[in-house]
Amino acid sequence: MSARSGAIRAVYLVFALIGLSCAAVSQLNLLTTHQEVEIGRQAAREVEREVKIYRDPVVSAYVDSLGQVLVRHSRRPGVKYSFKVVDTDQVNAFALPGGWLYINRGLITTAENEAELAGVIGHEIGHVVGKHGARQITKQYGLAVLVELAVGGENPSLARKIAGQFAAMGAGLTLLKYGRDAEREADYFAVEETYAAGINPEGMATFFEKLMAQQESKQESKQLWARGWFSTHPASRERIANVREQIAELPPKAGLKKDSKRFQEIKSRILKKDKTRSGETKLRETFRAF
Ligand SMILES: [Zn+2]
Repeated sequence: MSARSGAIRAVYLVFALIGLSCAAVSQLNLLTTHQEVEIGRQAAREVEREVKIYRDPVVSAYVDSLGQVLVRHSRRPGVKYSFKVVDTDQVNAFALPGGWLYINRGLITTAENEAELAGVIGHEIGHVVGKHGARQITKQYGLAVLVELAVGGENPSLARKIAGQFAAMGAGLTLLKYGRDAEREADYFAVEETYAAGINPEGMATFFEKLMAQQESKQESKQLWARGWFSTHPASRERIANVREQIAELPPKAGLKKDSKRFQEIKSRILKKDKTRSGETKLRETFRAF
């Protein structure tokens, strides 16, 4: 985009914004797909400096292939999606704007079957489908994002700042907290995607139920793994009920897949590696103790 056409677009959108109420603005996305993807790319670079990526080509290939099947059955298949596994026990997953998705190792091993994993991946794809990251950026930065991204030329500093905010793992995660409506919408898209892909959409409901049970049990809620998902995903019985309601309205479909041999092989592979690794750690600690 030339600076001139960018400026014209900025002016046009300023007028468009003045005419909108605050509530409407929070639903608004001022980013083009190209800008959304570019911010996501920078954010992904920042994120990958902060987190440890799980590097097992067999596991990566499986997660990517499951993800791409769901993408093909989503409402936004035109964006290039990237799926990576994060090497942590914490049960969580997150999506950056523009299609960069991260699934924690602990989430894969906590899922009981492929349908549960697919439900969660489908939910994260749903955040990209709903452009929730782009809307969040618009909401947080308002006109500043519009003006700078429209006229700021290559690699504007605000885009870097936004990317950095997405990368600020841990404490804040403000930009990854998409809000109740966005979570509900992502759930809705996840049911659509899994069902269309021939995977049982019940998986998402059973996975949420499992996490909720963990959250409600006092003892378990102290555990790291139960905290992860809820730090960015407010859970409620209402969400589970909505998912079940949506499923009940779907026309019956024969042969919806609940599990696969491949999923169980991948899960065992990760668990087996975990055991070896914790053995190694213990051994190192023993040596240190001496
Ligand atoms: Zn979410």
